Amino acid sequence: MLIVQKFGGTSVGDLERIQNVASRVSETKKAGNDVVVVVSAMSGETNKLVAYAEHFSSNPARAEMDMLLSSGERVTASLLAIALNEMGHEAISMTGRKAGIVTDSLHTKARIEEINPTAMNEALKEGKIIVVAGFQGVSTNGNVTTLGRGGSDLSAVAIAGAIKADLCEIYTDVSGIFTTDPRIEPKARKLTQISYDEMLELASLGAKVLQNRSVELAKKLNVNLVTRTSFSNEEGTLITKEENIMEKPLVSGIALDKGQARISLMGVADRPGIASEIFNKLAKSGVNIDMIVQNKAHNGETNIDFTIPSGDLNDAKLVVHSFVKDGDIKDESYNETICKVSVVGVGMKSHTGVAAKAFSAMAKENININMISTSEIKVSMVIDEKYGELAVRSLHDAYELEK
Ligand code: ADP
Ligand code: ASP
Ligand code: MG
Repeated sequence: MLIVQKFGGTSVGDLERIQNVASRVSETKKAGNDVVVVVSAMSGETNKLVAYAEHFSSNPARAEMDMLLSSGERVTASLLAIALNEMGHEAISMTGRKAGIVTDSLHTKARIEEINPTAMNEALKEGKIIVVAGFQGVSTNGNVTTLGRGGSDLSAVAIAGAIKADLCEIYTDVSGIFTTDPRIEPKARKLTQISYDEMLELASLGAKVLQNRSVELAKKLNVNLVTRTSFSNEEGTLITKEENIMEKPLVSGIALDKGQARISLMGVADRPGIASEIFNKLAKSGVNIDMIVQNKAHNGETNIDFTIPSGDLNDAKLVVHSFVKDGDIKDESYNETICKVSVVGVGMKSHTGVAAKAFSAMAKENININMISTSEIKVSMVIDEKYGELAVRSLHDAYELEK
């Protein structure tokens, strides 16, 4: 088999763990498989580099951030290759560029445009183990880019698709996908399977166990994706097509996203085209918009509230300020102490009362709901950040997910 194995930050968190990863890769290779390994930076390393940059600037140039952040993954890739060579394997490390990962120029959250796997295919033909530095690529104008936080998952899935791997294994510090973050709710239950769509919702709504774009791509390329732990041989969770899943629970999981901010625009000129102008400009600045609520206009003015990832707040403020300056918006306010809790399940498509149950669970704990949004397979609520964990546990109970 041709297998892609991705090891996250905790799995390569210190030298002993890198040795442990080397042993696992070695066993996979000795069992007769071809292996491409994708590694993250050692845990905490990327945050440390971000903090270094923030020492000098609150808004550092994005291209410089990519130069800086991509270094963490190179450290682990080369160390793992050295460890594998020492064990008698022929292993080589590759940067994103060498692995042929070409992206657009949206620095710090670049999108993969294409993968040219020539170098990887040649090395594989020579029987080598390839260790790719995750999270990074090269833009069409030759600059190093990174793929957004948690982006090594995306590197792994994209590579698996490009070299037509039989399997893509994501090794992390928990044994699979649970009904919610087991660090928040110890009663969370491990799922043996979950559909791409549900996993995509959970990941997009804050379950950082898989980066959302990696799930999106896995679905598109039909990659066989398994999440499991690097600390034992316990079986993980298969992420697969909905039709492959036998049992379809009403609710599959609960997600919590604490990295959200709410922007309130007051006294917005009530004329055709204004929403388009504001949100197009935000989109051009790379700001990801989530929930939007617009109130009924009054005296030619309206209020618009929306949520974004906290990391996009600086960029969003610049855009909002420009509209305030032009007089199209009277006043602005920002709230970073919010979070979003979400209930996800394909079973919602055919059942009623799922949202009502979520609202009752919040009411029971006396938690006020600020914003609500729903789709075919999810219900999301924005609440005060300090109630996030409590909300997750009460929803987990309300839908009896431990059973
Ligand atoms: P890695 O460094 O290996 O990429 P991450 O920290 O990005 O690992 O993701 C693993 C973490 O995701 C777990 O430690 C867990 O706390 C968290 N997590 C959140 N939601 C879930 C979930 N539904 N199932 C499993 N883990 C989850
Ligand atoms: N090291 C990067 C991060 O912490 C990428 C990754 O680990 O997937 O976001
Ligand atoms: Mg991760």
